[in-house]
Amino acid sequence: MIVHRLSLQGFRNLEQTVLEPDPSVNIFYGQNAQGKTNLLEAIWLFTGARSFRGAKDSELVGFQAEKADLSLSFTAGGRLQEAVLSIREGRRYARLNDVPLQSPAGLSGEFCAVIFSPEHLSLVKDGPSVRRAFLDEAICPLRPRHAAILAAYHKALIQRNALLKDIPHHMDLLDTLDVWDERVGKLGAAILHARLRYLARLLPKAERLHQSISNSHEQAAFRYESAKGLQNVLDDPGRHASEIEQALRAAMRERRRADLETGVTGVGPHRDDLTISVAERPARSFASQGQQRTAALALKLAEAEVLTDVMGEPPVLLLDDVFSELDGSRRDYLMHHIDGAQVFITCCDPQELASSAGAVFSLSNGQIRR
Ligand code: ATP
Ligand code: MG
Repeated sequence: MIVHRLSLQGFRNLEQTVLEPDPSVNIFYGQNAQGKTNLLEAIWLFTGARSFRGAKDSELVGFQAEKADLSLSFTAGGRLQEAVLSIREGRRYARLNDVPLQSPAGLSGEFCAVIFSPEHLSLVKDGPSVRRAFLDEAICPLRPRHAAILAAYHKALIQRNALLKDIPHHMDLLDTLDVWDERVGKLGAAILHARLRYLARLLPKAERLHQSISNSHEQAAFRYESAKGLQNVLDDPGRHASEIEQALRAAMRERRRADLETGVTGVGPHRDDLTISVAERPARSFASQGQQRTAALALKLAEAEVLTDVMGEPPVLLLDDVFSELDGSRRDYLMHHIDGAQVFITCCDPQELASSAGAVFSLSNGQIRR
């Protein structure tokens, strides 16, 4: 996946520009608040996903502009493609090779990028929902149906939970619970099955990458953790979807009384976690800032490797300010093991990176100069 040209108009603080990056490593340096992260965000939006900063579409348009127009020409699978995004009235509109798409999500799987930004420390530091979202978002470009299954699952969960709360007041509703159990069980098992297959590819890579980046000083272990009754089924990556569904339905039956008492569904993919430990201790509580960053980086680079395996070419790597908390040897590893992919790196001080770069750009007050 190679970006040949990016043009921007009216996007955040960035001046109207046409950028022609190098196919290898591109470095964007500048002081704080000049537009470095905005630039990576602009490229990222062509994956069809929402902003990695959780920004609303309306926030992406420059303060002085009415709309933002972005276009990206890139090669994917040897084919030259042209994607166009227009952001106006709080919405994003996408076109691919001049064909309007129903939604920007239609770009998913067409343009592939992996972003690593300071926010990704939350993968290690924050609660399980961040890690579940990471898994599901990483699966989406590989399995286009995953997003629809997730949406249907969450809708079914909301309905089941509403019913759980109603049943104590209307016991005649108890019979309808079976219908929702079946639906939640089926969709939940599809999510678990997709996660399991993805993790079987991801985790060995993440553990190996972690060891290499940290120069074998420490070992990281990543483990998918689910409810008691489900865990032994999920520990075997070769499980068939129907076996997972059976196990999930059994776990739901076992929890039914507790669910009726609490009014929430207590078992299923929405409760699981991907736990991370470094040197055999939970990274969330014990790892240093640099160790946490290394573990998060290993996961993200593993995500890129899985995409490379499946797509047959590396995704574009967007690395926002990654070097600030890594020591010399970890930086070295990173700079020398990301070859093959086109990389966009932002930093404040380009000194030690410049010699390995294909192109160096400065960013000042929204202006990009090579
Ligand atoms: P840092 O090194 O601190 O991470 P950065 O170069 O990555 O800085 P950005 O996050 O890209 O900085 O933000 C640059 C500037 O863009 C900020 O000062 C911000 O106020 C401004 N900005 C954000 N959204 C908009 C917008 N919609 N219109 C205009 N300016 C915006
Ligand atoms: Mg930034």
